[in-house]
Amino acid sequence: MEKRVYNFNPGPATLPLPALRKAQAELLDYEGTGISILETSHRSKEFDTVINEASALLRRIYGVPDDYKILWLQGGASTQFYMIPMNIMLPGKGADYINTGTWSKKAIKEAKLLGDVNVAATSEDKNFSYIPKEIGLNPEASYVHITSNNTIFGTQWQEYPETGDVPLVTDMSSDIMSRKLDVKKFGLIYAGAQKNMGPSGVTAVIIREDLVGRAKEDVPTMVKYKTHADKNSMFNTPPCFPIYLCKLVLEWISENGGVSGNETRNMGKADMLYKVIDDSGGFFRGHAEKDSRSIMNVTFRLPSEELEAKCIKEALEHDLFGLKGHRSVGGMRASIYNSMPIEGVAKLSEFLAEFKENNG
Ligand SMILES: *Cc1c(COP(=O)(O)O)cnc(C)c1O
Repeated sequence: MEKRVYNFNPGPATLPLPALRKAQAELLDYEGTGISILETSHRSKEFDTVINEASALLRRIYGVPDDYKILWLQGGASTQFYMIPMNIMLPGKGADYINTGTWSKKAIKEAKLLGDVNVAATSEDKNFSYIPKEIGLNPEASYVHITSNNTIFGTQWQEYPETGDVPLVTDMSSDIMSRKLDVKKFGLIYAGAQKNMGPSGVTAVIIREDLVGRAKEDVPTMVKYKTHADKNSMFNTPPCFPIYLCKLVLEWISENGGVSGNETRNMGKADMLYKVIDDSGGFFRGHAEKDSRSIMNVTFRLPSEELEAKCIKEALEHDLFGLKGHRSVGGMRASIYNSMPIEGVAKLSEFLAEFKENNG
């Protein structure tokens, strides 16, 4: 058997082993065709089934209503940073953005190139350790943009803002399907697959139908949502293999209790890890304020950089991989996405508690 470690990388991130095994088993001969899905035409009936099943699974698991389109696009979440304003920013009306970290900032930078941006709230004053509560939304805005989970800082919206008739647009790259939600509250949800639902190379966009056709005529063809919606994400060659792998991950989620199964496991994992931090008498210091803590990315510091380096090194010796924090926070970060088994988090929690005993 090959070696497998617990992989806490922030993204691309761990994938469910059954999904990888299935991809491995089908790699050379996809369903008796004698060719790999990597070599299959995107116009084949085999791939057509794959993409339709991926969309149907996402729709069913996440409760996506019929008046929303599901698109599978390229260019990562970063491409959505400009596709969104190019498609749904209305002439003369700006958009509201809430700045909760690095990814929000990048989204704001792109939107500013294309129209007026009102930063309705920010948590930059405390190095993005919290989700703002005071938000000054403009009722006339074209949309409100938020980052649901701040991968780098380890904060997450616990309750989404009320935006009335203004469409709520949300970057869910690092927490899609991590908990139950009402898709109807959103105008548009987007997520690069590589954190929580698949490999890199594909971005899922869930968009309400009335926003699909909002783009002006002069927007380039590939940038228009309508182009992709009209062609079932196959206007040009889609990222076939990443979509296929997303389908396998979605099947795994479906077989394991759907989003509510994810939510239960994710809450359990996050509680376990935060308890180690909270019970450490200040040895581990969480970056995020308690009421803003992410159930996906747990960020924390140790008493010194030397101890942080030592902890990361010893973790690796215990097959606990990918725990170095992002330079904007420092310290350590455990990314415990949907596919991270509870056993991995249990092992990490035990290791951390023991490390504290030996070094505290
Ligand atoms: C990783 C990440 C991105 C960037 O995604 P790409 O697919 O690399 O463009 C954007 N937003 C969030 C919240 C992320 O975690």
